[in-house]
Amino acid sequence: MIWKFCFLIFGLWSCKDSTTTQPVVDSSVETLKSSEIAVKKDTIPSNNVITTEKDTLKSNEVAPKRICGILELDYIMGRFDPTKNGCFEVVPAGLADKTGLYLRKETLAAFKEMQEAAKKDGINLLIISATRNFDYQKGIWERKWSGQTKLEGNINASQISNKKARSEKIMRYSAMPGASRHHWGTDIDLNELNNKWFESGTGKKVYDWIQTRGKEFGFYQVYTSKAADQRTGYEEEKWHYTYKPVSAKLTNIARESMNDEHLSDFSGSEHAKQIGVVQKYVLGISEACWK
Ligand SMILES: [Zn+2]
Repeated sequence: MIWKFCFLIFGLWSCKDSTTTQPVVDSSVETLKSSEIAVKKDTIPSNNVITTEKDTLKSNEVAPKRICGILELDYIMGRFDPTKNGCFEVVPAGLADKTGLYLRKETLAAFKEMQEAAKKDGINLLIISATRNFDYQKGIWERKWSGQTKLEGNINASQISNKKARSEKIMRYSAMPGASRHHWGTDIDLNELNNKWFESGTGKKVYDWIQTRGKEFGFYQVYTSKAADQRTGYEEEKWHYTYKPVSAKLTNIARESMNDEHLSDFSGSEHAKQIGVVQKYVLGISEACWK
């Protein structure tokens, strides 16, 4: 009936035209073949948008109307510059403990709302780490690899001669470059990089608040208790949260298009496949973050 009406009133040409304008907004990452994702080298253009799938979200979760950018593998693996990307925005003073941090615009808008709500309840949420691209993560990784930065317990990783074991030791809390969710602009570290801090006093109040209220704003703890959540990979991190309305989509892209051979260009990368980094670590997350 609508077709007939369209044909009669506007003629066949305008009818087609009105239908072909739709996919510009509706184009979804699923329409990209994995091979296409792998070869694209451009960073995320600010004028491309895709819609988010509401059915991946629970009814009480907020979803942005659109996700900015083309969500390709180079972006997922941090090979871009957030300071030059139209989908990213600097985190304003007062929300972070330092200047110059960047987040995706959708993440930052949702965090601002959550931070305001927390403040009303006397809780201070402070971002201490946000987007880290491949080069930044490589710096962290190489300093740990060489022993310049000590691991937890003052361990010098360079003294672990077995390179696979050395990688796995670093990966208790740090991701290989290319495999970090901090590449995505959806993930943040809050207040303190210390599980103990979140277990009593002010830290416990922060943790309890965000566990109870964070979901309303789309934020979920990614690295939960491994035993309780039956997940693999990194140890529990009570400070690391993700903005699920965007990152659930990115997780699915990683699942479909990323493999261990993509991890290269840093010390120990040759062991990524043997370790099973993508399956065990990238996808070894709390189910609530993407389901
Ligand atoms: Zn983190």
